[in-house]
Amino acid sequence: MSPGNSSYDLIVIGAGPGGYVAAIRAAQLGMKVACVEKDKTLGGTCLNVGCIPSKALLESSELYAQAKHKLSEHGIGVEKVSLDLKKFMERKEKIVKQLTGGIALLFKKNKITPVTGTAQIQKDKQVVVTQSGGALTLTAPHILIATGSRPTTIPGVVVDQKNIFDSTGALSLDRIPKEMVVIGGGYIGLELGSVFLRLGSEVTILEALDQILPGMDRDLGKNLQRILEKQGMNFKLQVQVNKANVKKDQDIEVDYDSVDVQSAKIKCDAVLVAVGRKPYTDGLGLSEAGIQTDEKGRIICNENFETTCAGVYAIGDVIAGPMLAHKASEEGVAVVEVMSGKGASVNYSAIPGVVYTWPEVASVGLTEEAVKQKGINPQIFKFPFLANGRALVLGEKEGFVKLIADKESDRLLGAHLLGPRASDLIAELTLAMEYQACAEDIARTIHAHPTLAEAVKEAALGLGSGAIHL
Ligand code: NAD
Repeated sequence: MSPGNSSYDLIVIGAGPGGYVAAIRAAQLGMKVACVEKDKTLGGTCLNVGCIPSKALLESSELYAQAKHKLSEHGIGVEKVSLDLKKFMERKEKIVKQLTGGIALLFKKNKITPVTGTAQIQKDKQVVVTQSGGALTLTAPHILIATGSRPTTIPGVVVDQKNIFDSTGALSLDRIPKEMVVIGGGYIGLELGSVFLRLGSEVTILEALDQILPGMDRDLGKNLQRILEKQGMNFKLQVQVNKANVKKDQDIEVDYDSVDVQSAKIKCDAVLVAVGRKPYTDGLGLSEAGIQTDEKGRIICNENFETTCAGVYAIGDVIAGPMLAHKASEEGVAVVEVMSGKGASVNYSAIPGVVYTWPEVASVGLTEEAVKQKGINPQIFKFPFLANGRALVLGEKEGFVKLIADKESDRLLGAHLLGPRASDLIAELTLAMEYQACAEDIARTIHAHPTLAEAVKEAALGLGSGAIHL
């Protein structure tokens, strides 16, 4: 696309949920904005090969699993449940297309200039964009790096997207593996592992640490593992993967050490590597522009998101903090508001995290472990979904709402949910954290009946005068 005039108020590099949101907010604030994106479609990892397509596959696979295993509970008989993998993937593609096209329309509406190409930052507030037909130079007093991250792997495991996949490859698999080994028991491993488990694959998670979902409250990982095991997922914790050897197509041997066995082997026909992501800064010309990075390759910036090069800012997965789309978007809004002279900041103590397994996991604030480490005297209460009417109606008996409050002040410190629609329930608790609410504030708020949200109220009651339904 032609950028027209090459002089802007702001050049955003990267059109993911950090960059495109920043571009829109900047345009709303009256800035003339160009957004450079190397890929053909807008939306970044989130819309193209991350959050959205994975949630589409999770939804479809959950419906398939329900038709196979859960409908009979309701007295509904289904003669034969079949799966058309091509159609299954096409539905996902259609959703992705609709949403990425939607960003293009929003850019048009906000008069943002999209520029397709690879950006390199120059010293003098210039950005050179390399395109298939040549290069062009854009200038602006403000440059925002929002280039995100990309999947990483481990030594001895080479992603070929044929036998050994990263999340991008696994989202477009054209076969259902018989046996899938997933390296990494974090967000991606558990979500995509769940998709293939539901489709009929034998899934084994190999996790380096002694718990899945490290970083989240221990109760969540422990209980989710128990539930996923009941669904048929296999777990091997505290393992070190040495090598994944592709003997021939769809014949792979993964060699690993565990606490009790050295050089154990597991055969499979697909490997998913989900051991984290790393900042994507290739070709940006960071060092030439005087932009420093830390030991993990993350761009160093101050509280206003300004890098070590004045006028150049960075947000999202390329800087420190959780690699989450909503964190990037929030930083995107804050950084352009700061640029335009408004005061803005991001409340890092109230960033929710959600894992879209079934049941879902959702968390905000401090974990029990972190509270104890900080020497805070906590009060903790867990209300099980088993005692919630709506959960029973939905056939969801697993999970809980766990709330942590400061014993002296009653202020909410953290909320950790495992259960149906935890992804939606966490919003109330994030708002409570944002408002620095006490458990009693939540407990005295009227919650509609019968809803899953009543479990949140009951947990808050449990921290004070006592839960009613337990
Ligand atoms: P992650 O950090 O969530 O999990 C990686 C897991 O791999 C960890 O449990 C880690 O201990 C383990 N691990 C690391 N090295 C290992 C090794 N050599 N052998 C075995 N296990 C090893 O990373 P991810 O699942 O790859 O996801 C990447 C990022 O994407 C995350 O930061 C996450 O925030 C984001 N993401 C978010 C969502 C969501 O919001 N629902 C979904 C997918 C991804």
